[in-house]
Amino acid sequence: MNERRKFVPGVYLVGAGPGDPGLITLRGAQLLGAAEVCIYDHLVHPALLDLLPPECDRVFAGKSAGRFKTGQDDITDMLIEYGRTNRIVVRLKGGDPFVFGRGGEEMIALTAAGLHCEVVPGVTSGAAAPAYAGIPVTHRNLTSMVVFVTGHEDPAKQDSAVDWRLLARLRATLCVYMGVSRCGDIVRELIDGGLDPATPAACVERGTQPGQRQLRCAAADLPARMESAGIDSPAMIVIGAVAAVEGFENWFTGKPLFGQRVIITRAAGQASELAGMVEELGAQVLRMPAIEIQPIPAREAMEQALNAIRPGDVLVWTSPNGARRTAELLEAMGRDIRAFAGCLTAAVGPSTARALKEHTGLIADLLPGEDFRGEGVLKALIGRLQSPANLWLFQAREASRTLPEGLKAAGHHVHELVLYQNVEPEFDLDAFEQAADDPHTWALFTSSSTARNFMDLLVRRGHDPEDAPIRAVSIGPVTSETLRELGVEPAAEAHPSTLQGLVEALVRAVQRRKE
Ligand code: SAH
Repeated sequence: MNERRKFVPGVYLVGAGPGDPGLITLRGAQLLGAAEVCIYDHLVHPALLDLLPPECDRVFAGKSAGRFKTGQDDITDMLIEYGRTNRIVVRLKGGDPFVFGRGGEEMIALTAAGLHCEVVPGVTSGAAAPAYAGIPVTHRNLTSMVVFVTGHEDPAKQDSAVDWRLLARLRATLCVYMGVSRCGDIVRELIDGGLDPATPAACVERGTQPGQRQLRCAAADLPARMESAGIDSPAMIVIGAVAAVEGFENWFTGKPLFGQRVIITRAAGQASELAGMVEELGAQVLRMPAIEIQPIPAREAMEQALNAIRPGDVLVWTSPNGARRTAELLEAMGRDIRAFAGCLTAAVGPSTARALKEHTGLIADLLPGEDFRGEGVLKALIGRLQSPANLWLFQAREASRTLPEGLKAAGHHVHELVLYQNVEPEFDLDAFEQAADDPHTWALFTSSSTARNFMDLLVRRGHDPEDAPIRAVSIGPVTSETLRELGVEPAAEAHPSTLQGLVEALVRAVQRRKE
């Protein structure tokens, strides 16, 4: 919200960077967080769209090469139209907006239409893709000049805008954008123009992304090598002495989880820490939450509760999400934890206690010794309280009945506040089965309940676990046991049972398979 106030309404041409979502600029990310409309291209990573506020309008303006040749005018018209709505409009473009991104045309048209327009440069693929393949585009001893050039045009065309024969004599690093389909013609023109056929060359496909592929050879051999490797767009062609710089060509593709796909089954709000950890090691993350948490509008019930809660009452949280929702509701109502002053607080287990502390600042007075379920906290409460006590439970619609029924049976007054519910998320079974078919795909399970929810979801959607075995990695013995009960033998198990341990177990499993 604060971010939004900082930007004036208008159209912002934002460079999304070359693919790795971490390579967007800070200003670009802030603008995404503030956007009211976002118009994006097909090369843009979905994780960047996750930065948009939920209420932001998302407009796909995909112009896959050659498919809609006249699309640019429509896009420019659309930008002008959105620009006139007096909102923060983000036009998100791959790489840098002004490097073969037609951002220049858009800016001219928007400014001519009298709109406020700004550009946020991005990391262009001509620099980033070579870098991720260990190629510095300049190097003091090798070359002092870089040319960003499009390979889109027919090089043999009489009035071609690119004079390849001239480029051949520059001794510059040539970074050729959009050059995959015409690579043969380009190299021929260069060699005809005097380029040494043995000049080092490289090609980087999907640079900075989990599927990056790279190859190096003499310029003369490049078209054939690209052809036989099946290189496809987007790819960057690099021609020049720097393409022979050796020693760190695998700094990116050599990461321990590079080339692996990892399915994360935690609920969306809890998945990002784990996703970040495996992405940092080079893996591609597929988010397939088994459960989605949906807030229930509980403001009225909460208001009544706040009016009724008295010092000495007992407040019980049975899940981290319940704690988070409590904090959200308090904030939305303009209240704070003084509403709970003088109450005894209880949490079902350590992660709920942690979430309670993090979101509300409250410390749990009471925590079961070992059994972190309804039974455990019930026992702890009954041991501690004299009846009749006044208890308030902050929980999910699906919460187990053990706790409220047990408390009532012990003679206490129980008030239940239902703050959220678990709903079945959208789930693409085809995408899952396709991924599971690939031996480089792993599924991470962080608890018995996610394992159970996930397998239930698969079976409900018609998946036969016998058909496509899942390479599962489990967070510990309890989750492993649940997986076995569900017919899945875990490929690896974490020691210790932490997210870090889970990631290490995955890395070990990947290494074992490579050996
Ligand atoms: N504005 C973009 C370029 C758009 S033109 C930028 O500054 O990067 C599209 C071309 O960019 C593709 O054909 C390809 O040559 C190159 N490109 C874009 N993303 C790439 C990537 N991740 N790896 C290699 N080349 C890429």
